[in-house]
Amino acid sequence: MRNSIIECVSTVFYCNICKENHKIEVPITIKQKATSFPFQYIYFHGTRDNIMSNLYIDADFKVRGAESFNLDSLETNFITRNKSLNIIRELAKQLKDVRREYKILNERFNDLNEKYLALKFEFFCLEKEINENKNI
Ligand SMILES: [Zn+2]
Repeated sequence: MRNSIIECVSTVFYCNICKENHKIEVPITIKQKATSFPFQYIYFHGTRDNIMSNLYIDADFKVRGAESFNLDSLETNFITRNKSLNIIRELAKQLKDVRREYKILNERFNDLNEKYLALKFEFFCLEKEINENKNI
């Protein structure tokens, strides 16, 4: 479980704003948490992350549906209230996941840092012992 946090699968989708294919990395955990397929995934890109792609990804990580919006000119795009609410809900879910993963990674970092400091101390003691023996 802990290792799967950063495991990703790459997939490709065609972006109707950039008019090109984008290769993206989707965390495996998003699929594991999906309650139905295809599952929704929101991806930001562009020079200022101003392009938002609303993706529908199947169980094999193939993008089955993609619609992109330029957030700088959102008023010129047609976006329904229902679709907006749907995107906000999905973003809230992704944000919650990121916060949880941050907490887990932070705990993992603290564990490793403690081990590192213990080893560093052990190394320091051994080095001291070696130097003392040299002087005999
Ligand atoms: Zn794009």
